[in-house]
Amino acid sequence: MRVLREIKLASSEVGKYRVSTIARWFWCAEQAYWQVRGIYAGAERQKVVGQQIHDSIDKEIKRWTWEIAFLKKLDQLRQEGYGFVRRIGKDSVFWDVTGHPDEFQVTMNKKVSIIEIKTTEIGEKALNFYIHYRLPTAIFQTEVYCYVLEPFIKQIGYELDRLHAVQVWHVKYQKVEGKKVMVGREHIQDFPVYYYPSHVERELLDTILPGLRDHDKVIPPRGAPNCFKCRGCSKVYKEKCQFWIKENMSM
Ligand code: SF4
Repeated sequence: MRVLREIKLASSEVGKYRVSTIARWFWCAEQAYWQVRGIYAGAERQKVVGQQIHDSIDKEIKRWTWEIAFLKKLDQLRQEGYGFVRRIGKDSVFWDVTGHPDEFQVTMNKKVSIIEIKTTEIGEKALNFYIHYRLPTAIFQTEVYCYVLEPFIKQIGYELDRLHAVQVWHVKYQKVEGKKVMVGREHIQDFPVYYYPSHVERELLDTILPGLRDHDKVIPPRGAPNCFKCRGCSKVYKEKCQFWIKENMSM
């Protein structure tokens, strides 16, 4: 079976959105708006970091034969460059699967749960911060993965479970020849995700998709442009951000 994760995923564009862009809305909707228009900061680094942990877990887990069967069937429905695409209203949302065995749990009676692995460098001491600010984004991202994949999973004769999970790892890095290399990892905690399709659909149709099209409908993070998210925000976003520009022009 080919390694699914080697396939490149298209970027978001107006009307066709990657799930990671949709999830970014929960952190900062303004950043998500600009990602749709090709503006990114630090996204590549995250991708490399994410892949390192998947690869290291991969070496420890053996796939069940029924998981291999599931992945092979699912692979046949992938669209090159987009993975799995679901239409919603006049837009569509897409996501590709990596094919790592830690990404799904498939039972013998063909029930499928999605496991979203998230890494943090801040460790267990800062778990409260993670739960308050990062976890809601990861949970919604997992729910949208479910929403995108559900019809495909049904089509190949499996059933998407209602219960899924976000798995959080603390990862340590070292710089080796200018690159960040993972040197240690610790599994911190798992969080359940309850998937309600109508909740995801309403959130997308009523708020997120209109905001990704229309700048006036973007909702700023609480306290913006003076909140901690704005203080730590990349210059790449700040110089385009309507809230940051408005505040700094009025000073
Ligand atoms: S400055 Fe604040 S509101 Fe603007 S893009 Fe950055 S985080 Fe979002």
